[in-house]
Amino acid sequence: MRASPADYEFIEAYDLVHALSLLSSEEGWRPIAGGTDLMVLFNSGVLTYKRILSVRKIPELTQISSTQDAVRVGSSATYAAIQGAEILVNEFPLLCQAAGWTGSVANQNRGTLGGNIANGSPAADSPPALLVYDAELELISSRGTRRIAYADFHLGYKKMNLAADELLYAIHLPRTNRRLRHYARKVGSRRAQAISKVCFHGAIQMDGDSIRDVRLAFGSVAPYPLRCRNVEQFLSGQRPTASLIEAARQKLSEDISPIDDIRSTASYRSHVSQNLLADFLEQLL
Ligand SMILES: Cc1cc2nc3c(=O)[nH]c(=O)nc-3n(C[C@H](O)[C@H](O)[C@H](O)COP(=O)(O)OP(=O)(O)OC[C@H]3O[C@@H](n4cnc5c(N)ncnc54)[C@H](O)[C@@H]3O)c2cc1C
Repeated sequence: MRASPADYEFIEAYDLVHALSLLSSEEGWRPIAGGTDLMVLFNSGVLTYKRILSVRKIPELTQISSTQDAVRVGSSATYAAIQGAEILVNEFPLLCQAAGWTGSVANQNRGTLGGNIANGSPAADSPPALLVYDAELELISSRGTRRIAYADFHLGYKKMNLAADELLYAIHLPRTNRRLRHYARKVGSRRAQAISKVCFHGAIQMDGDSIRDVRLAFGSVAPYPLRCRNVEQFLSGQRPTASLIEAARQKLSEDISPIDDIRSTASYRSHVSQNLLADFLEQLL
């Protein structure tokens, strides 16, 4: 360990009001939920915040609930809770699949969806599922609440539309009775405990033999997780054929911009992304 706990102040918020008042003070508190990202930074001696505020047990942040129109997932809901929520299993299977991919069982018991989002990693596994489902984020501070489309949350590499005094409060998933075909693949160095080299989630609705609605989202191929709007627009209304799929593969370069890094290369990521897209679309032939 290259950091000493004695150099840090760590407290647990009594409740939401307490958490928001500390975050809005000038004292420099930063939230921690499961700690599965933050404690890695701590352990490496690169955690710059000295005042850590646990929001993990605030009830409003842990609950999963639903209305007729949407499912609300509190930001501190763990991956284990997500996989155990019947409504998410039935209606948002991609999110549950991503939750099941994340780290080990220990990570899934501790790590949270909000932490995954706010950590801002382009390689995180749940964001592409949230993008496919047109998720909205609810942010809260002592100034009030605001809602934004998750697609507008990431502004650049590790740059997010989240102020220092704001907490990610909840993730809202619009419910739909449309029959979507789902697809999800994570490609890493091994099946478990691997950070993605490429992560892909897709959903599609057919209208007869034509594509009516298609949503495609990738992780690890750009500075932040993204929807492939160009390919989606290109495929919309088309009848799936082998030549259409080949053209979609080529068009993908208009949406993604993979790089070389310690986990993979740009050319591998580009090739695998095309293959995953084709694998998904070939199921429609
Ligand atoms: C061994 C290991 C394996 C892993 N495998 C995977 C994997 O396969 N896929 C994957 O995607 N991730 C993986 N991770 C990363 C991590 O587990 C996830 O990103 C997890 O979701 C982080 O959630 P957390 O609650 O632990 O976040 P924390 O570590 O508590 O916080 C992460 C960041 O989010 C901020 N934050 C937390 N809650 C809030 C909030 N409510 N509002 C505002 N900011 C907040 C914190 O300030 C911090 O900046 C792995 C990590 C480890 C250690």
